[in-house]
Amino acid sequence: MSDTRSYKAELVGVFGYPVAENPTIVMQEAAFAAADLHWRYLTIEVLPEQLADAIQGLRAFNMRGINLTIPHKVAVIAHLDELAPEATLIGAVNTVVRDGERLVGHNTDGKGFVRSLQDAGVDLAGKHLVFLGAGGAARAMAVESALAGAAQITIVNRSASRGETLVELLNERTPAAARFTLLDGKYAVPDGTDILVNATSIGLFPAVDDLPDVDLDSIKPGVLVCDVIPNPPYTAFLQAAAARGASTLDGLGMLVGQGAIAFTMWTGRDAPVAAMRRSLEEIFRP
Ligand code: NDP
Repeated sequence: MSDTRSYKAELVGVFGYPVAENPTIVMQEAAFAAADLHWRYLTIEVLPEQLADAIQGLRAFNMRGINLTIPHKVAVIAHLDELAPEATLIGAVNTVVRDGERLVGHNTDGKGFVRSLQDAGVDLAGKHLVFLGAGGAARAMAVESALAGAAQITIVNRSASRGETLVELLNERTPAAARFTLLDGKYAVPDGTDILVNATSIGLFPAVDDLPDVDLDSIKPGVLVCDVIPNPPYTAFLQAAAARGASTLDGLGMLVGQGAIAFTMWTGRDAPVAAMRRSLEEIFRP
């Protein structure tokens, strides 16, 4: 009896170090199953000094693309053939897409945040956003928020240099007006703030009781409070904000949003977003 099935899977994955706890495999494999695609997502540990070889391996295996996580998001740029405009602006790549022989770098982190806001019915046009933090996530989110129409962006950070560099980028390269505030004691959220975002790593599992240095009583009911932390999704910060009457948006939506954008870039298909979110909720459940 003949067997005409193809046993060859299309390959994508993530390069990182450390990478063992990166949960993206769960979300992407759930998406492939829901879309009935014979694709595999591989979680691959790549040492910093072996990134160039790993990218050669990706080319040799004819992989369809790759995600990059710590510490490769900036270093990978030197090994790519092309950068999408937003990745050039942000200066970091979290998703590579193979286009024929060419490897093209994108950054979907900030787009995932904007998509999660849109899914919650929030229009960024004319809004004042305050970001706590000025690292890679804050940079991607602030740039994409500015490109999506935010009018005013305040960056609050404990180290001035990172915060000031991000503010310069926003003022020079996007239509938004940006300013920097040095974190010094408890930050009081100014009147007129529409959206407050924790874009620091504070609150990530296992330090789930840690809170950003914010005067919680300055969070007013009209403010939408967002958290970048996906695990646990309902952070202590979001709980404190909700207790003061604010509406909240968790980091799981952003994680799913950026993964959904990568899924569509790789496969050309709409992403099965509900299945992706469900798969992560199952593993992040306390
Ligand atoms: P970075 O290390 O680049 O930046 C961390 C930021 O947090 C910096 O601004 C740092 O301040 C600030 N920070 C850390 N600890 C403290 C503290 N104790 N007090 C005040 N500020 C602090 O990390 P990333 O930006 O790449 O990631 C940040 C978080 O976002 C991570 O937890 C990551 O898991 C999450 N993330 C979530 C995504 C999602 O899809 N939901 C996507 C990407 C990231 P300083 O500059 O002064 O050091």
